[in-house]
Amino acid sequence: MLSFDAELRTELAALQKAGLLRELRRVDTPQGSHVTIGGRPLLNFSSNDYLGLANHPALKEAAVRASTDFGAGAGASRLICGSLAPFHELEEVLAAWKGTEAALTFSTGYAAALGTLTALVGKDDILILDKLVHACVVDGARLCGAKLRIFRHNDLEDLEAKLRWAAAQSRHPSTRRTPAAGDRQRASRTLVITESVFSMDGDRAPLAEIVALKERYGAWLMVDEAHATGLHGRRRCGLAEALGISEHIEIQMGTLGKALGSSGGYVCGHRALINNLVNRARSFIYSTAPVPAAAAAATAAVRLVQSNHGATLNAALWERVSELDAAIRTPRSPLGSAIFPIILGDETAALAAAAALREQGLLVPAIRYPTVARGAARLRVTCTAAHSRQDVEQLAAALHRIPRL
Ligand SMILES: *Cc1c(COP(=O)(O)O)cnc(C)c1O
Repeated sequence: MLSFDAELRTELAALQKAGLLRELRRVDTPQGSHVTIGGRPLLNFSSNDYLGLANHPALKEAAVRASTDFGAGAGASRLICGSLAPFHELEEVLAAWKGTEAALTFSTGYAAALGTLTALVGKDDILILDKLVHACVVDGARLCGAKLRIFRHNDLEDLEAKLRWAAAQSRHPSTRRTPAAGDRQRASRTLVITESVFSMDGDRAPLAEIVALKERYGAWLMVDEAHATGLHGRRRCGLAEALGISEHIEIQMGTLGKALGSSGGYVCGHRALINNLVNRARSFIYSTAPVPAAAAAATAAVRLVQSNHGATLNAALWERVSELDAAIRTPRSPLGSAIFPIILGDETAALAAAAALREQGLLVPAIRYPTVARGAARLRVTCTAAHSRQDVEQLAAALHRIPRL
């Protein structure tokens, strides 16, 4: 026991020395533009609750009603006896919104990525990932055992090189698959995965060009819309809708926990995809269904986002984005996203900047390795529809008072 404790303490000390130690901060208020931490009110520019829905009355009422009608817990996995009506209602609403045949929800976006990858690809298949995809896709890629290729971030030439390599592999006889018992022999699959809006940089993937490439090489495409769902497009479905290319994307995934203000993950696509996941996605099959309250809140959010009220919140968000962009534009700050990375490089410098902002009453996280590459530490500012113009001005003034920014 003593050596166990000593060893783990040594590891923590090393993390601290490198400026990489993480700690939980207890928040004593609901999510919103203002939160209280340790008795101190802070102006919050760190949340992914882009439309300010996490504490919205419509979502809370839906959650309460679902708890009253369906209880606090689901009792079992969806496939045993936990497939409660609120999950079905949510999936119908999601599929109609995204314009797909069907949808499946998971307990988290992380579980959705893990379950989907391991259900669809295996060791005889090829996965081609953008260098900056989220940890859940990286972990799913490792777990499924597919041959992995990484293309340089948003680099179409490099993606094409990887697709060409993959096409050559699947023609090569030595890679032909030996079917497991009871399994039909099938051709090797190539799946490309990217995010539509990148979580830590806020820039966008060239999705239309990626669609063209994957079609030319006969690959499939999965797009993670975690930071675009609720934000982009006429119906605010995401970047794929905005670009009019949704029906060319085999697997549309995202989270219910960011702009949709609740919790859970989703995959939208053809009925055959969804039925396949129900049969093969282990993070769906072997896990208790989420609480009905979360599903009901997400359903309320999907409806709200499509309403006039949703349009107003969306417009408010983009007003804040353009004000913030005008106030703190750095050479690297991309246009057209609510995520503003302020790259500092050094991990301890990012921590010091975040602490200096906290002293001024602002909550902005220092994002460090392994969330981003070593030496690419940054402040990640996110604005939401719940902020006011004055909030943005206060942030800009505080940032300008920090040396080196
Ligand atoms: C947050 C996030 C996820 C995971 O979603 P959760 O519902 O939080 O598990 C997946 N992909 C990206 C890009 C994310 O930012």
